[in-house]
Amino acid sequence: MSGQQDQPMLDCVIVGAGLSGLSLAHRFNQLEAAEPARQPPRQLLILEASDRVGGNITTNQADGFVWEEGPTSFSPTPGLLKLIVDLNLQSELVLADGRLPRFVYWQGQLHPLEPTNPVGLASTKLLSPGGKLRAVLGAIGFVQPAIGAQASEETVNQFFSRHLGVEVAQRLVSPFVSGVFAGDVDQLSARAAFGKLTHLADVGGSLVAGAILSRRGQPKLKPDPSLPKTKPGELGSFKQGLKTLPEAIAASQPICNQLRLNWQVKSIEITPQKTYQLAIATPDGYQQLETRSLVLTCPAYVSAEILQSLQPQVSQALREFTYPTVACVILAYPDSALPQPLKGFGNLIPRQQKVRTLGTIWSSSLFPGRTPAGWHMLTNFIGGATDPAIAQLTPDQIVQTVHGNLQQTLGVRGVAPKVLGVHIWARAIPQYTLGHFQRLERIQTGLQSLPGVFLCSNYFGGVALGDRVQRGQEQALQLQQYLQPADSTHSQA
Ligand SMILES: Cc1cc2nc3c(=O)[nH]c(=O)nc-3n(C[C@H](O)[C@H](O)[C@H](O)COP(=O)(O)OP(=O)(O)OC[C@H]3O[C@@H](n4cnc5c(N)ncnc54)[C@H](O)[C@@H]3O)c2cc1C
Repeated sequence: MSGQQDQPMLDCVIVGAGLSGLSLAHRFNQLEAAEPARQPPRQLLILEASDRVGGNITTNQADGFVWEEGPTSFSPTPGLLKLIVDLNLQSELVLADGRLPRFVYWQGQLHPLEPTNPVGLASTKLLSPGGKLRAVLGAIGFVQPAIGAQASEETVNQFFSRHLGVEVAQRLVSPFVSGVFAGDVDQLSARAAFGKLTHLADVGGSLVAGAILSRRGQPKLKPDPSLPKTKPGELGSFKQGLKTLPEAIAASQPICNQLRLNWQVKSIEITPQKTYQLAIATPDGYQQLETRSLVLTCPAYVSAEILQSLQPQVSQALREFTYPTVACVILAYPDSALPQPLKGFGNLIPRQQKVRTLGTIWSSSLFPGRTPAGWHMLTNFIGGATDPAIAQLTPDQIVQTVHGNLQQTLGVRGVAPKVLGVHIWARAIPQYTLGHFQRLERIQTGLQSLPGVFLCSNYFGGVALGDRVQRGQEQALQLQQYLQPADSTHSQA
């Protein structure tokens, strides 16, 4: 291993330039800029193993199509909108109409659900009259008590069946969970995956009472006038796709000078001075860097490898996060292949329907300008925690399966699809399964022996892009606070 002996000591290294790492770096630099008096300025590097930024965010373009092979859109949270304004990306932002219906495929039909229209929910044929009554009674307080092991930690299925009935759990919650987490309602922890809803039930005994009590006494937050205006249910992206955001952060000052692509952190050692020595594979061979602090934003199984010799207990807990395989299949069809134009967000498919595809986003109906005229583009997800065998299929077999499913669910007919992309995510989304909070506690306890080492990734704090921005920004503040006392020690010396 060839080390660089003359490398100066760094203040912080961020490992990974996905949205977690980039939001963290962006906020950290903002906090630094707010303190120009402090000299010398803190030294930060962002190390990214691959040859591009964005991590899971994977936008592609060809033949007049623009498509996503990872996340497809984001909920426009205040933190994300603020980042968009900071980067001057307002004119690139596109928002999909929040009133677009979401469909659930059930017993051979697509049932529309309009999230912004509760009356529509009441009239849906997706639930039987008994199922609707059970949901309403449960929501207002006729809730079965949790018993046995369930009382300490419930699965998503147990929680929703108890509160809103089995029909809601199976026909609404289960497909939603497949669509968002690629998860299994019988394995996910309700408190970890749906913390806001379980909190309402804890506060009020039922979801409705909890919502009323939580709002009581809380001042109504006024929207920030400096942020782009959004309406409930809207989903965001950019004219040229989601990669616009990470690429703009990476191109901004001073991040463009702090970022190193194709630098893969392999291992970390602690020095007697409680600083960290990083071994990094780079295009020019192995490098060593010394830093006072570091933030690992890479997936749990990568951080487990990196920390193995330094903190085996933390490594062990990190290895327990599972990431199921999911394939994202983007197919385009001429308009004539569809029985009618698709207008909506997309459709989800409950597992009981025996259709292998988890759900389809009607991408060409969501954002304008994503296809040439006369084409529909469909983004399909298949696999996940309930279908591990997907990992055994070839890309061709996956396309054939999805195409067959689209014939059944959307009535696609005639021609073979134009295949824009088949991206097999061998380890896609971390699962917040039962025991999630105990795992996090074990990690926190283990990290106490490694001052200055932080973890900030989507295996805790939420998988959504808005969550990643918020967690990255919070982590930046913690990092600055960690570096502060040592700064004053240095300046006294
Ligand atoms: C198929 C799919 C669909 C999704 N759909 C949506 C959606 O529609 N909306 C939504 O809000 N969210 C969605 N998500 C979730 C969201 O995309 C992720 O939670 C989020 O992008 C994670 O960002 P991150 O920065 O925490 O991690 P990542 O994006 O995984 O970034 C981690 C980075 O670390 C780098 N790295 C790894 N190892 C090393 C190393 N040793 N040294 C240096 N660098 C390293 C990686 O190359 C990567 O760039 C989806 C996720 C997937 C997989």
